[in-house]
Amino acid sequence: MANMSAVDMVQLTLDSKFRFKCHKGISCFTRCCSNIDIMLTPYDIVAMKKRLGLTSEEFLAKYTHTQAEGRAAFPILYLKMNSDEKRSCPFVTPEGCSIYDDRPANCRYYPIGQGTYKKAVDNKTVDEEFFFFVKEEHCKGFEETDAWSIASWREDQGVDRYDELNKEWKGIVLFRNVPAEALDGKKLAMFYLACYDMDRFRSFIFESGFLNHFEVNETSREKMRTDDIELMLFGFKFVKYILMMEQTLKAKPK
Ligand code: SF4
Ligand code: SF4
Repeated sequence: MANMSAVDMVQLTLDSKFRFKCHKGISCFTRCCSNIDIMLTPYDIVAMKKRLGLTSEEFLAKYTHTQAEGRAAFPILYLKMNSDEKRSCPFVTPEGCSIYDDRPANCRYYPIGQGTYKKAVDNKTVDEEFFFFVKEEHCKGFEETDAWSIASWREDQGVDRYDELNKEWKGIVLFRNVPAEALDGKKLAMFYLACYDMDRFRSFIFESGFLNHFEVNETSREKMRTDDIELMLFGFKFVKYILMMEQTLKAKPK
């Protein structure tokens, strides 16, 4: 979570320009990797647990803590910082990020923040993205001269793939009209399972009799057995169904 006092209140678009460079020789190198709250998305977890060779259950227990957020109080996960005085990230080293290629989306965005608001277009509500700078005093990157637009920064940092894969999940978390009866503890536990705990969600799909009750085509089934991304995307559909947002699954006739 961005330090709110460091948020520059100017709303930016993909074309907004800025100058910035982050590199190993800079005096503040890795200063941004401590005392920070980093929200994790489902795809962050898929990429990080694979990188670390852990099951989702092991990763979640060791590296995350949960907060309930928003009106619907969905469980949202954050990276668990070390308990040292600086609250350092467990992956920071003097050489930089030890999981750099699989770092979370929020680390990729930094020093840009991203938000979404609802907008009425042609009698429909659509999600509109906006961006903002996070200018922390210790971050010297803004004194450098490399020129970027928000769009070219996103491309350079590999953010697009993360945003694309997390899009449906974000839509769920931002959804404002979830029926109250859809939000009991059991359903929120299913949300956690289907969005974050891929290995246990796989067991649920293939070992609980779920496939006796819902239509899932053979190709998807086979992919989901081994492919966490396919399973995660199916998980989002499952969550929309159980939270009564959309008829994303088809029940088999009894
Ligand atoms: S995951 Fe990597 S980039 Fe992100 S805070 Fe930790 S060390 Fe820094
Ligand atoms: S504080 Fe800014 S410039 Fe320094 S390492 Fe972090 S992102 Fe890079």
